[in-house]
Amino acid sequence: MTDTEVFPQLVIPETLAAGPGPGNTDARVLAAFADAGLADHMQADVLRGMIECKHMLRRVWGTKNTYTFGVAGTGWSGLDALFSAILPGDSVVCFVNGTFSGIDALTVRTRAATREDLKANALDPKPSSVTVITVPHGQSVTAEVIEQALAQHKPTWAVMAHWETGSGRINDLQGFSDACLRHNVMGLIDAVSSLGIEDFAIDDFPGVVGWASCPQKGVLCLPLTYAPVSFTDRYIAHLRENGCYTFVHNPIFEARHWGIVDGKDTAAGTYHRTHSGYAVAAFHEALRINLQHGRTQKAADYAHHEAALRAAVQALGCEVTSNMTSLVVLNLPASLAGREKELVQNARAKGFGIWPTLSEPVQVRIGILNQLSAAAITEIVTRFAAEMSAMGADVDLDAAMTVIERHYASAIAAE
Ligand SMILES: *Cc1c(COP(=O)(O)O)cnc(C)c1O
Repeated sequence: MTDTEVFPQLVIPETLAAGPGPGNTDARVLAAFADAGLADHMQADVLRGMIECKHMLRRVWGTKNTYTFGVAGTGWSGLDALFSAILPGDSVVCFVNGTFSGIDALTVRTRAATREDLKANALDPKPSSVTVITVPHGQSVTAEVIEQALAQHKPTWAVMAHWETGSGRINDLQGFSDACLRHNVMGLIDAVSSLGIEDFAIDDFPGVVGWASCPQKGVLCLPLTYAPVSFTDRYIAHLRENGCYTFVHNPIFEARHWGIVDGKDTAAGTYHRTHSGYAVAAFHEALRINLQHGRTQKAADYAHHEAALRAAVQALGCEVTSNMTSLVVLNLPASLAGREKELVQNARAKGFGIWPTLSEPVQVRIGILNQLSAAAITEIVTRFAAEMSAMGADVDLDAAMTVIERHYASAIAAE
């Protein structure tokens, strides 16, 4: 490539996105994105769309929290806004059981760090006010572990991932909320992987004062849009009293563009940043799809199809260690142990987008975001079995197919 040449137009192929995220974006969402007219961020329909999104988000989250809106960007953008109220020296207990809760804890340690803490270890500060409780990969954070840590440390804040996507484990949200109430701790939850998949309403967990999710997993709105967040009045009052070190991710400021000022809904938003009419239109359509599917039905559909995938990979000789319903995390049979990354790379080279775990031990992750059909699960299992077989494993694809057929046949019989 010389200085005067221009790269050819970028072509990105269609793949089978069968990982922990992003999920396959619905054609309706892409059409809404592409069909939106060019309109600025203060145009009436863009502002109305944001207000409607806010109302839909309250239903998706199951909350009356006024401070419920979207933070432009990815899951980490929403989490950054969530952790914005943590100030240097604040006492925090973080529960870590995988990659993502590990990065949550890094964000928290960065926020709680004093200038000296940062100077001592700029990229991985270790403020003494933050306690990280590490639960081994493959295990869930339990009510007992939470209770013990909060009783001992009595922190201002506690932080946990609801569903830890790195290891595919569901953590005890009820236990977390209850322990936060018992010890008067403000709970913050990373709900990036659970929102839009699990049937839960955040108002049922009053120990949690702030929640953050992402556009690309359960909400299924990758075309870079909004990370849903929600804050209770207690969080907002604490923030109003103490402030935080960010303008763009200060939830009080960010909420203004969504028509939330001084704890009340207003008729139209006021400027916070240049929102994209395309993104608002796409997000709006994604939320409509979520509500049309219904939280309870959607959760039941994920559980149903995950069970089929789980049983099929077990029939292929794999051991499943996860308990999330959007994802299976598995160990390959002994004959392929240690070759997980190789298998994943081979699959990805053919447009079959499965993933390894990002932290040790290396396992394989296969996800079903927006793959809620017998045909989709069958294709995923067929392609996975082909990769195992190509690496020399003795797989019984017929057995796996029989398991899948029985699973779906018994569901039809039960209807
Ligand atoms: C995916 C994920 C994130 C990060 O989300 P991005 O959209 O990649 O920024 C954070 N936490 C959890 C639990 C996740 O699953």
